[in-house]
Amino acid sequence: MPHTQLRAKRTIETDVCVVGAGLVGLVHALEARRRGLSVVVLESGLHPEGGSIRGHGQLFFSALPAGRSQLEAQAARQRWLELAARAGMFVEDAGTLVVAGSGAELALLETAAADPDRGARLLGPREVRTLVSIPTGGLLGALHGTQDLRIDPRAAPAQLARLLTRDPRARIEWNTSVQEVEPGLVRAGPLRVRAEAVVVCPGAARAPVPLNTRSVSSRVHLVRLQMLRLTGTKGRRYRPALTTTAAVLEHPGFAELAGAEELRVRVELARPELVERGLRLLVVQLPDGDLIVGGVDSGATPSPFSSERLDSLLLQEAETLLGITPRVSQRWSVWEARLRDRDACGLLVGTPMPGVRLVQSVGALGPALCPTRAVEVLDDLMLVPALDAGPISARDQRVRERSDEGLRAHSAAFGRRPTPLNARAVPPEQEIGA
Ligand SMILES: Cc1cc2nc3c(=O)[nH]c(=O)nc-3n(C[C@H](O)[C@H](O)[C@H](O)COP(=O)(O)OP(=O)(O)OC[C@H]3O[C@@H](n4cnc5c(N)ncnc54)[C@H](O)[C@@H]3O)c2cc1C
Repeated sequence: MPHTQLRAKRTIETDVCVVGAGLVGLVHALEARRRGLSVVVLESGLHPEGGSIRGHGQLFFSALPAGRSQLEAQAARQRWLELAARAGMFVEDAGTLVVAGSGAELALLETAAADPDRGARLLGPREVRTLVSIPTGGLLGALHGTQDLRIDPRAAPAQLARLLTRDPRARIEWNTSVQEVEPGLVRAGPLRVRAEAVVVCPGAARAPVPLNTRSVSSRVHLVRLQMLRLTGTKGRRYRPALTTTAAVLEHPGFAELAGAEELRVRVELARPELVERGLRLLVVQLPDGDLIVGGVDSGATPSPFSSERLDSLLLQEAETLLGITPRVSQRWSVWEARLRDRDACGLLVGTPMPGVRLVQSVGALGPALCPTRAVEVLDDLMLVPALDAGPISARDQRVRERSDEGLRAHSAAFGRRPTPLNARAVPPEQEIGA
């Protein structure tokens, strides 16, 4: 249905309303457009300003758990590459190097490399040197997650947003804080958006989840991370993201491996401060050559104040890994949502009410899978398949049948007529950016 501006209270009608213009919300909005649905995104900031622009931008598929997530990763990767091409985004396709300094670490990485779905291979120190210029004297080897991608965290959300702002059937309302969500209606001050489906993607901000969807995120707690931008890399290129085995132990794809728990205990004995402070080194290079490194200031009640000690630990760890002494050019902190029960999925999808989904990225892996989760979320909400979707599998058919029942109940409750499958599909050339 076209956007319709009504008088006085400014009501917009649309098929899908997305709350939050971070990576997760924007990818959902683009998925809605892919299937010919009109979409309105409401964002409280004047531009994307949440976790998406403050992190590393690493799409860390190789750290996802084995099984469904690893299989899903292949489709998600493909979708990210398509989105990046359409949006003109920077994508580094050089993967991740997880280095090992001890036999126990190498054994764990060997187990990870043995899973063919992960698309990772074990490298010796010499092979590491051919990929990246880091000191390999103390290294026994590394895992190369060849399928991992990296986007520029500072530019990517704005570039995805631009695809929507150029599209006549999509719009983004910036500087618009949502206070209330109910089935079919989103309220943001004087603005009301009537939408058949609502997807709330609020990120990890402390308060802005609309009040009546908060109960769904009760499984989530927040941690504060400190981040540094380092400059002075003397023209060196670090194409793969760099990290250590100790730093990846909490990621579900490594935590589940045999030997991970024992290794965690060893790291705790050898480097208690790193574990106590939850420091997890990940080094990525921005397109201009600067590096981003981050770590966690953990604790039951994270302090609002930055810790100088954590910054210097981070810097030391980065210097040891890289063998250079860059200088800090920016410091910032960022909140990250984590699941209390250490769920493996990376994206928490809740149904606070009919026709509404809360999609919250938990941990540092959520964006990797968000293109494929967006497909599921919209299939579930709207019944309209993507225009380029292949043949419908038996499983998809079952999902659609279930969604159909849900939608009928939602429509009956809110007086909207159920939309038949494919009713609003538009020819592929109308797809935005095509
Ligand atoms: C230090 C750090 C490093 C990370 N590194 C990586 C990484 O390498 N790879 C990776 O995949 N992930 C990484 N992550 C995780 C990743 O950054 C986040 O999980 C992801 O960006 C969250 O995206 P989002 O769209 O859910 O949230 P956000 O980017 O936070 O966007 C949410 C948006 O919703 C808006 N909003 C919230 N409430 C309202 C409201 N009521 N009304 C209107 N707007 C609202 C906010 O203003 C915000 O712009 C990292 C996270 C951190 C903290």
